[in-house]
Amino acid sequence: MLLYQNQELKVYNSLSKEKEIFKPITEGFVGMYVCGPTVYSNVHLGNLRTFMSFDVIFRYLKHLEYKVRYVRNITDAGHLEEDEVQNSEDKIAKKARLEKIEPMEVVQKYTVDFHKVLDTYNLQSPSIEPTATGHIVEQIQMIQEILENGFAYEINGSIYFDVTKYNSKHNYGILSGRNIEEAIHNTRELDGQSDKRNPQDFALWKKAEPQHIMKWTSPWGEGFPGWHLECSVMSTKYLGEEFDIHGGGMDLKFPHHECEIAQNVACTGHAPVRYWMHANMLTLNGQKMSKSTGNYILPAEIYEGGNPILNKKFTPAVVRFFMMQAHYRSILDFSNDALEAAEKGYVRLMDAIKLIPHLKTSNLSQFDVKQWQQACYDAMNDDFNTPILIAQLFEGVHQINLINDGKVQITAEDLSVLSATLQAFVFDVLGIEQPNSNQDSNKLDGVVEMLIEMRNEARANKNWALSDEIRDKLLALGIQLKDSKEGTSYTLLS
Ligand code: AMP
Ligand code: ZN
Repeated sequence: MLLYQNQELKVYNSLSKEKEIFKPITEGFVGMYVCGPTVYSNVHLGNLRTFMSFDVIFRYLKHLEYKVRYVRNITDAGHLEEDEVQNSEDKIAKKARLEKIEPMEVVQKYTVDFHKVLDTYNLQSPSIEPTATGHIVEQIQMIQEILENGFAYEINGSIYFDVTKYNSKHNYGILSGRNIEEAIHNTRELDGQSDKRNPQDFALWKKAEPQHIMKWTSPWGEGFPGWHLECSVMSTKYLGEEFDIHGGGMDLKFPHHECEIAQNVACTGHAPVRYWMHANMLTLNGQKMSKSTGNYILPAEIYEGGNPILNKKFTPAVVRFFMMQAHYRSILDFSNDALEAAEKGYVRLMDAIKLIPHLKTSNLSQFDVKQWQQACYDAMNDDFNTPILIAQLFEGVHQINLINDGKVQITAEDLSVLSATLQAFVFDVLGIEQPNSNQDSNKLDGVVEMLIEMRNEARANKNWALSDEIRDKLLALGIQLKDSKEGTSYTLLS
């Protein structure tokens, strides 16, 4: 028996607006696609929250012993400053122009930053991380199919998706609930949109102006693909015409995901995705964290310091614990106080885990470990409810403390289930790391180096009393200094 066969996972599907029992298309296998970043600037903590939400979903599916193929793209072309506005600049090309570097330098710089941030915050790598520029051929092919099926038209070297035509046969608005006829009626013609038949139509391919740097050859002349297209193309290529889960931030529901569905349906005649999942926003001062408004904090500012929002530095593990205390579909507000509260909870959790090897066992159990373990699963099975899971984990912490105080008895067998369950959920599923012993030893290195330098200075000044005091006090702490021709080193006495 594999774990998922014993658990009933329910997932909130944004399409049906209901929690549904999760049943993958192919038993035992899950295909999941999540929209990745546009790599034109550093990811902020809001972006990180969305990727972390899907990291936990990925981790739990794997914990349930599904074989998961997780695809998360990198948008390195085609994302315009303003959606669907004529001559709007590509975000990456604009940054390249401003910084006087190549667009691919912009892409490289921010892709490296993105990976570093995700690694620091203990996110697991997806199975495939495809780029838009690596899939131009496939994007041209999909446009041709949509043209052949009559759902797109060419004007002046650009190809637009014909929303009105599509909506006469299918439902444009199926995900976002937007009424397209009303929208068409209410939208005034924007400046520069004149080459589209209808303001609701969106670009599949844009003709490149002569000054445009990022452009490719196509049957319609030189140009570049529309942003919505890459996700339809790459999800189909790696997960098939129909796959299990598609995720992204709530703000991508419309137009991005609505357009994705329309493109796929226009090609294949059927819906591409079984479960659409949307993660909610991280806010700061009650407003959505966003690069464009300046209302954001960078992930590195939290552990390096330097942002006046924070009174002190916090470790990535504490931030992760803070994020996990909210359900992925709830808005979460970031603040110094909230992080301080999370830090207290995190320390309490880690202290309890450290206590486990020292607990005394007996020949009876006064704590129903199996029932508690199932309650942990039930929390995650209920649409990945991490705050309820954390409440259950603290029930485990409470019991550990009672056992430690001799107020509750537990058998060795039950204690090992308690320990394994707690560790699996905290470290594997929630991805919360233990205090990093590596970091601690780096700090120790730095401190001892500093004292060795001070001792050398004292010796140079013939201040033997101080140099001996430094050596002796370190020795009393179990740190032995050794002088040699190469200099002074130290060993830890056990
Ligand atoms: P972008 O690079 O702008 O496409 O954003 C990458 C991801 O971050 C998308 O899934 C967005 O929905 C998500 N996102 C943007 N702002 C926030 C926020 N304040 N909180 C949570 N997720 C966000
Ligand atoms: Zn996407």
